[in-house]
Parts: sequence; structure tokens; C-alpha cells
Amino acid sequence: MTTTIHHHIGGAAYGTPERTGRVFNPATGEQTAEVAFANAADVDHAIAVAAQAQRAWQDMGLVKRAGVFFRMRELLVQHSDELAAAITSEHGKVLSDAAGEISRGIENVEFASGLVNLLKGEHSTQVAAGVDVHTIKQPIGVVACITPFNFPAMVPLWMSASALATGNAVILKPSEKDPSSAMILARLWEEAGVPPGVFNVVHGDKEAVDALLDAPGIGAVSFVGSTPIARSIYARAAATGKRVQALGGAKNHMIVMPDADLDMAADAAVSAAYGSAGERCMAISVLVAVGEATADAVVAKIAERAAGLTIGAGTDPSSQMGPLITAEHREKVAGYVTDAPAEGAEVVIDGTAAAFDSDGYFLGVSLVDRVTPEMKVYRDEIFGPVLSVVRVETYEEAVDLINANSFANGTAIFTRDGATSRRFADDIHVGMVGVNVPLPVPIGAYSFGGWKDSLFGDSHIYGPESIHFYTRSKVVTTRWPDASESQIDLGFPSNH
Ligand code: NAD
Repeated sequence: MTTTIHHHIGGAAYGTPERTGRVFNPATGEQTAEVAFANAADVDHAIAVAAQAQRAWQDMGLVKRAGVFFRMRELLVQHSDELAAAITSEHGKVLSDAAGEISRGIENVEFASGLVNLLKGEHSTQVAAGVDVHTIKQPIGVVACITPFNFPAMVPLWMSASALATGNAVILKPSEKDPSSAMILARLWEEAGVPPGVFNVVHGDKEAVDALLDAPGIGAVSFVGSTPIARSIYARAAATGKRVQALGGAKNHMIVMPDADLDMAADAAVSAAYGSAGERCMAISVLVAVGEATADAVVAKIAERAAGLTIGAGTDPSSQMGPLITAEHREKVAGYVTDAPAEGAEVVIDGTAAAFDSDGYFLGVSLVDRVTPEMKVYRDEIFGPVLSVVRVETYEEAVDLINANSFANGTAIFTRDGATSRRFADDIHVGMVGVNVPLPVPIGAYSFGGWKDSLFGDSHIYGPESIHFYTRSKVVTTRWPDASESQIDLGFPSNH
């Protein structure tokens, strides 16, 4: 019998779904569960329950509330094997990679556990005679968190840790492709002390998302996913006056300068391009080699390393890379490699030629050289194990190429020259920059976010910017005048 994954509302499973989606194990191609798809009435119910529960959560003492996050950190550590198994079963990434995702998510909980400090306001005494001013940060109310398939635990933690720490109730709408991690997180948040109704999970597709975007009871929307959906989420939610941050897709470039340590650069390129089968928004998908000699050498080194990678089920400890998320996505990714020669690129390693003794959605890794900016393989976000190499003559050409791209999530430079790397950090129009770091995902104490088509909205996600995003500030001006000096004054209040 197929297991049904239900919505989690008010601390319990909710509803009898009219529609469901199928959940697969990408390593075997077998269906493992079905997941409920919410309609507008389900979403409205979740919002009503969340709004009801939120007030008491907001009123809980901050020190007591902080304790929830300390406990959640410990619970995540204790349950990381269970969580990693769920991630690998539904996403396909190898278990060590799933564990890495959890440990990055734990950073967000650690950051949020400092909420007593994070929620401090400002105070000015005696701004005028007997007048003091202070600020307070209050929660938005109920916030919607809509997340992608590729980090089914980490991205929900990016959002929910700060949203809850600031006193909001959360409705998480995880990817319908790998919904089980969200259910584990719901259980752990409640075990840690989040009251029922404060963290809810509503599953589904566009119907559920649209209901959240349109609902007057939702005050803010955090979205992470592909650029076309991020753009439309931003427009639709903003149209109803919500605060929105919508993080989109990416095409991340890594420059290799002639002075770089080319073995180190090749190791980094292989790890960052093919890790998690390239299904990371910070994956390196374009290597920009400066100079023909650099390009020839680094392509040879990458090809040698890529040929030795072990691809297999994520549960097999010898696997370095697992399958792609769905059969359709595998076909789409393979199409970019198959079509590349007709556009003039040179396929150095053809991952579509790799054979696998499995019904899973496996694809070999591909390396495509002599790619130019007009080619489809360069223009689109592929989101698979395909590394393109663009050859340029100068540092300036490399920077111009990256700055002309509409995606601007992450980028990296490999060089031994401090002045070049410093100049690069200044010159480049991208949100997250690595110097000899191929995946510059900021630590939890900093915020994460791209520029241009990689983020719609003003705020980056998690870290300090999230505290601002999930709160509204108020300024309180106070005076305790001597009643005997009170008089009528119709003039505009002046402090001079
Ligand atoms: P997606 O855009 O297909 O889906 C993201 C979420 O939106 C899911 O919950 C999905 O159910 C929902 N959704 C899908 N279509 C919708 C529609 N038409 N209307 C309303 N909601 C809809 O993304 P995905 O395939 O799950 O994830 C991969 C994408 O996410 C890649 O583009 C990747 O770069 C991006 N991503 C970005 C970041 C970042 O921080 N910038 C992080 C992770 C992933």
C-alpha cells in the first residue's frame, strides 16, 4: 500500500486530499509515497490555525524562546542520520552530501538561538526635554516559506529558523518531489518546544502556492526556486502588499587565472560542478579559463579527474555522485550535451554515453569546451552535471562575460595574486564571491543571496538580513511630563 504524506497543521496530520502527487526514489525509479496536494481551503485552514497560534509564540519570553533553538540544534544533530536518509531516498544525493546540507542548516538554527541579542532595539534618552525614543521589532505574523527540491532540509531551515526566532508562525510549502524532510523538521521543531500551529507544512503545487500568495493572512513570503517562478512569485505576492524575497536560479562562473594552482583549481571545479549532480544553486557551471595555455592544462586535469568519479546510489558509501531528480530532468540535461556540438562546442566528456545498470535517473558527468556566450549550453541554467569551459584572453574579458550574464548568484576566482582577487571582489556584479573557494555559501552569521535574476526583492536570506525581513520595526517616543506644566500647543512638535 502506498504511504500518503499528509499536511501537518496545528501539530497533527490534516485532511483527506482530493489530489496527490507521486514521490520517487531517483536511484531506483520506484514510487515510495504519495503526497497530498492542498487546495485553497486547506491553505486557508492552515493560515487560520497559524494565526491563532502565533500570538502566544510572540508573547513567549525571549530567553524561553531561545531555549527552543538550542534544543532544536541538538535534535538535528541526534536525528541527522534519519534526516539524511530521507533526503537521499527522495532527492538522490549521496548520504555524505545530505549530512553536509544538514550541518549547514544547523548553522541557521545556531544563528537564530542568539535571538535575545538579534531582537534588541535602539534607545535614545533625552532627545528633547524629558523625551526618550526607542525601537521595537515585532513579528510579521504568519509567513509562507516555499522551497525547492534540491535542499529539502537546508532551505526550509534557512527560512524557518529566523522566521520562528523573530516570533512568526510559519507555513512551509516544500517541494512536492521530496516532501519527507519537511515532515521530520515539523516533528523536531515541536519536540524542541515550538507550540502546535506555529510551524505547519502544507504540501502541493501551483494551486497551494497561489493560495498562499493571494491570502490576506500571509504577511511575508520567502521563496527559493527557479528564476521564472521566482519572478512570478515576487510579482504576485507583492501585488497584494506582502513582503517578498524570491531567490532564483543561477549560472555560476569560476575564473581560473594563469597564475592559479591548476591542480587545486581542477579539484575545486570537479567538486563544485559535479557535487550533488550539479543540482545546487551555487554549483559551478562555467569555468572561465584566462589564456589558451591555462585552458588546455585545466581542461586536461578536469577530464582526468572527472573520468575517475564513481556514480551510483546515494546510499552506497563508494558513490561520489547520485542520480538526477527525475527522468524528465535527466533527459533535459542530456539534451544540452547532445546539442552542444551543433552549436560549435567541443564535448570532451559525454556523460550521456555512460551506461548504468539501474532504472534510476543516472547521468554521467559532461565537460564541454570552447563554449561561447550565444550557445544554449551557456545561456540556460542546466542544473545538472555539465561543466562548460569558456576560453578568454584577459581578466577583463572574464569579468565582462560574468557581468553580462543575467544570473548573478555566486562566482569564484582562482589565483595566487592578492591584488587580482581584491579587484575581482570589487569589479564583479554577483552576490556571493569566492577567492579560491568554489562554493562561497556564506556561514550562517552572514546572509545569502544573489543579484539580478538570481534574487527578486530587497533582502538576502538567513543571517542578519533575515531578522530585518521577518520583523516590522516600530519607533516609540515617550515623555512623562510634569502635569502642572501641561498646556495646549497646536504647533508641529519640535525638538529644537
Ligand atoms: P521550482 O521553481 O520548480 O520549484 C520551487 C518551488 O516552487 C516548489 O515548492 C514548487 O512546488 C513551486 N512551484 C513550481 N512551479 C510553480 C508554479 N508554476 N507556481 C507556483 N509555484 C510553483 O524549482 P526546483 O526545480 O524545485 O528547484 C531548482 C531551482 O531552484 C533551480 O533553478 C535552482 O537554481 C534554484 N535554487 C536557487 C537557490 C538560491 O538560493 N538562489 C537555492 C536552491 C535552488
